[in-house]
Amino acid sequence: MSALEIHVFLCRKDNIGVLVHAEDGTTAAIDAPDADAVLAALDVTGWSLTHILVTHHHGDHTAGNLELKDKTGCRIIGPRGEAARIPGIDVDVDDGDSFVLGGHRVEVIGTPGHTMGHVTYFMPDDRAAFVGDTLFVMGCGRVLEGNYEMMWHSLCRIASLPRDTRIYCGHDYTIANARFGLSIEPDNALLRHRLEDAEQRTADGRITVPTVLEQELQTNVFLRPHNFGTRTRLGMGAVADWRVFGEMRDRKNKS
Ligand code: ZN
Ligand code: FE
Repeated sequence: MSALEIHVFLCRKDNIGVLVHAEDGTTAAIDAPDADAVLAALDVTGWSLTHILVTHHHGDHTAGNLELKDKTGCRIIGPRGEAARIPGIDVDVDDGDSFVLGGHRVEVIGTPGHTMGHVTYFMPDDRAAFVGDTLFVMGCGRVLEGNYEMMWHSLCRIASLPRDTRIYCGHDYTIANARFGLSIEPDNALLRHRLEDAEQRTADGRITVPTVLEQELQTNVFLRPHNFGTRTRLGMGAVADWRVFGEMRDRKNKS
């Protein structure tokens, strides 16, 4: 199979827009933060929109749905648990479902926590995962509708994907995440290096997405609650991983 082409762009303020293009012309937007920005990206690439894959119902991920559907006739696929809140939805999907997009397999993984119906789209043959607001580069989404145990379980689902999976997330909060991460793991040299790299990229006007799962496992403190140094620093001993995760998420909320 030849490679899927993936185009990433920044829109709104800090949302990441993504276009996925298959050999047969099928082109999917991952979420639709802003119709004009998606249309501009289609213009740049010369691709014609055929689908929108929605990760969750928040406005900064669905605001462009109706205008894009109106202008392109695209089909909108989104999470079953939030179907009533996804404008223009045609097909609803949930954990365990799979479908084929332009000849490429897409697996749906339920990743609740940020919202209750949030889903991740994983393309196993292309080693790409579209995780919305669940996992960020060196960070994770706020737990708005679910609870910490649920969010931790969702992060574990993503963490158990193949290590060479490229992770496309919904926002570029990379620098703030890395700085927070260093407050938890100040001796993590790779994390420090990645912060410097993100600062350089951002200064150059480049996007810090995608990341690779392998790197996240080494530098994303929210995936590392088992880390001994972290537990010592937080004054938490032999408690469940999700409790340590929750403590870090609490601290990040206040930082
Ligand atoms: Zn969101
Ligand atoms: Fe968002």
